[in-house]
Amino acid sequence: MAIVPKFVIGNWKMQARHEHGLKLARDVARGIKDTPLPEHLHTIICPPFTQLDGVHQALEDEGLPYEQLSMGAQDCYPASSGPFTGDISAPMIKDLGARYVILGHSERRQNHGETDAIIRQKVKAATAAGITPIVCIGEHLAERNEGRAASVLATQIEGSLTRGFRGILAYEPVWAIGSGITPSTEELQRKLTLIRALLPMRLMTDDIRVPVLYGGSVTSVQAPSIMSIEAVDGVLVGSASLEAQSFLDIIGAAAEATTPQPSS
Ligand code: PEP
Repeated sequence: MAIVPKFVIGNWKMQARHEHGLKLARDVARGIKDTPLPEHLHTIICPPFTQLDGVHQALEDEGLPYEQLSMGAQDCYPASSGPFTGDISAPMIKDLGARYVILGHSERRQNHGETDAIIRQKVKAATAAGITPIVCIGEHLAERNEGRAASVLATQIEGSLTRGFRGILAYEPVWAIGSGITPSTEELQRKLTLIRALLPMRLMTDDIRVPVLYGGSVTSVQAPSIMSIEAVDGVLVGSASLEAQSFLDIIGAAAEATTPQPSS
């Protein structure tokens, strides 16, 4: 049976000034070195654009294999270059050492009017540049309460993923982000099973196993139970990734869930 990789991804958002970011990256790298990860667990930190170069250098200095700890950006522009003042392209973030990019985060959908079509263009641009897209989807509270979550997720999957999508999907219910509220195990299992059922229709194949992560108010307290849900391939972490020890605790919970337990 193919091994399914697991991921713990830290989204720093527009937080952590330069020195804080460098220290955070170093502390996370050192923590991982102290307690090496299981082979199929990948950790990724996503600093703001301005810190990509410094964080990349800090990670290189720590000398961890990129399979264990690598870096992503939080967005990229759909075009590779051109007269787009203030924007940053996928080749540019690649130049600075990013291997991944978060796309379609609800904060970008909300604050920058990003549509599924724009996100799909960004997915294409990232893929063309050799960067793995991490695409976020998730319903708002009203949509959930009105029983519309399934159709919202179906629309986002259909609209924001490319047909041959090779990347990571993060289910981030908007009502769970930064709220301290996480879905119940049953709800999470149900939503992720639904997402998995929707994916082959978009990808037009059953053969691609897209890792599906959960994101929204994950801390070291909920991480063990979330990671133990069979359908969950990892977590996308916001606030709790801004402090090295809390992020390392979440990584530790994921490592435990990923390590095969000896049969009794
Ligand atoms: C996020 O915004 O991607 C996120 C998961 O944030 P938090 O963990 O702070 O809810």
